[in-house]
Amino acid sequence: MSESTAIAPENRTVIGITFGNSNSSIAFTVDDKAEVIANEDGDRQIPTILSYVDGDEYYGQQAKAFLVRNPKNSVAYFRDFLGQEFKSIDPTHNHASAHPQDVDGVVSFTLKDKDDKKDEEGEVVEEVPASTLSVHEVATRYLRRLVGSASDYLGKKVTSAVITVPTNFNDKQKAALVAAANAAGIEVLQLISEPVAAVLAYDARPESELQDKIVVVADLGGTRSDVAVVASRGGMYTVLATAHDYEFHGVALDKILMDHFAKEFLKRNSSATDPRENARSLAKLRLEAEATKKALSIGANASFSVESLSDGIDFASTVNRLRYETIARSVLEGFNRLVESVVKKAGLDVLDIDEVVLSGGTSHTPRIAQNLSNIFPESTRILAPSTLATAINPSELQARGAALQASLIQEYDAADIDQSTHAAVTTVSHITNAIGVVSLNEAGEEVFVPIVHPETAVPARRTVHVAAPKEGGDVLVKVVEGNTHIKVTKPEPKVKEEVSKSAKVEDADDEDEEDSDFSDDEEQEEEEKREKLWKIGNTLAEAAIHGVKKGGKVEVTINVNADLSVIVTTREVGAKGGVRGQL
Ligand code: ATP
Ligand code: MG
Repeated sequence: MSESTAIAPENRTVIGITFGNSNSSIAFTVDDKAEVIANEDGDRQIPTILSYVDGDEYYGQQAKAFLVRNPKNSVAYFRDFLGQEFKSIDPTHNHASAHPQDVDGVVSFTLKDKDDKKDEEGEVVEEVPASTLSVHEVATRYLRRLVGSASDYLGKKVTSAVITVPTNFNDKQKAALVAAANAAGIEVLQLISEPVAAVLAYDARPESELQDKIVVVADLGGTRSDVAVVASRGGMYTVLATAHDYEFHGVALDKILMDHFAKEFLKRNSSATDPRENARSLAKLRLEAEATKKALSIGANASFSVESLSDGIDFASTVNRLRYETIARSVLEGFNRLVESVVKKAGLDVLDIDEVVLSGGTSHTPRIAQNLSNIFPESTRILAPSTLATAINPSELQARGAALQASLIQEYDAADIDQSTHAAVTTVSHITNAIGVVSLNEAGEEVFVPIVHPETAVPARRTVHVAAPKEGGDVLVKVVEGNTHIKVTKPEPKVKEEVSKSAKVEDADDEDEEDSDFSDDEEQEEEEKREKLWKIGNTLAEAAIHGVKKGGKVEVTINVNADLSVIVTTREVGAKGGVRGQL
């Protein structure tokens, strides 16, 4: 954080910002509740696009509409270029708007952002040349508009923000983002990682208990999908593993609908030009395909309608959700594999995952959440609109989390925020095995009762109460390490029923695309049963508490220090004294 932009805490007005390649959002906190702000167009998901027409600057949804008739003076999909050299960027998504250029290694765009000089009749008397703007300048201008909308909404000038960043943003990219925000007049209180912001938004709800848990955050956006496994331990978040994918995303789903409707158009108008071969037709096709895709997240059917799609011919059609899920199957399955791969990368099993948070616009897609609920056991909560009525809008999670964090830290001086938050954001050291006590179950067998869960960030302190035998007396507390293993029980072999091919769901009227055996999901063989069981590991300490009262309890406190040394304290609840041992 640069000194020049630091603002005294009492003078701050803070918001949370997510700045994506496709969309951005702004949010603020009121009465401990985060709310996403609608801009002057009424949008809460604000397209990350700037467009210049006759010297006027448009941003958001208005700029997106200009992609049809003003693509060259519109700039889209640029967030990921911040802090990168030209040679390392991927310009795939910039074909339908201003193309990135190499200006001495700096990613730049040429845009006609000023109007020509005109006389009173509107005739051009002097042409004003186009400007070459660096990605820093483009991001600055966009952020200025975004924050301007927040200031208008709040009725006072926003001074400071917490901004979310992908977990794979390097220091250069982060510095470039902070520099662009500063240039737009914003003090950056903190950059927080996108998945942690999403988890924060859920954890801040009054009804949520702060439990130790392992959460998978699947952030499925427009041009990238990012998945992270996050351990939440006593309010500390540790990112255990991440994966980033640039092939399975919202734009890939749009493309499937674009191809689908282009083919249908050509079938009906066999001599017409393919709308995919003309830039303007393609832009119209793209905008409408995205709208149709979004409608399919809510309804079972959606319409698609474009005036003058190609060669002046209007086109209108419909698609149902089943058909869409069928033709999009390969992309949808890509999301499954991505999520599974990250769980594996974290060295975990699906049974270890307590929650899956679906974040990002593409996470509205009902089939994605359904597929994930088939992959994870019933004990895993899938937090998505189609699987949980109380789920938070996936498109709003990150902005809300950022706004909550902003309101938490706004009272601190810039220097203190810097120090206090670095540890929380980066990966801190954590224990690998669980620590707990040995207890007897109803059958009289020794079982492991976890107290400090694996992946807990240290230092950590946890306390549990262990019931003494009914009649009281001496209680032996054995503190041990624990680790999990997965117990697999194979189902009883049974005669497999023949499923006739004709019983499968098929769309009658289409023959051109991969016909699918989609209903396979429902006819899977009965699955083997998999459970996570604790195994008792090394003994760390044993303590005997003598003469515990009838019906009494023993309190066991485990402190794991930053250097991973452990202190165990045991005492009878309500009694003085106790046993303390350092390991
Ligand atoms: P990225 O940085 O990956 O390009 P982002 O983080 O800026 O994306 P998001 O708003 O999270 O953007 O995701 C945008 C994607 O989500 C777009 O492809 C959009 O079409 C899609 N999307 C938005 N709403 C829905 C919906 N209701 N149903 C399906 N897809 C949706
Ligand atoms: Mg995103």
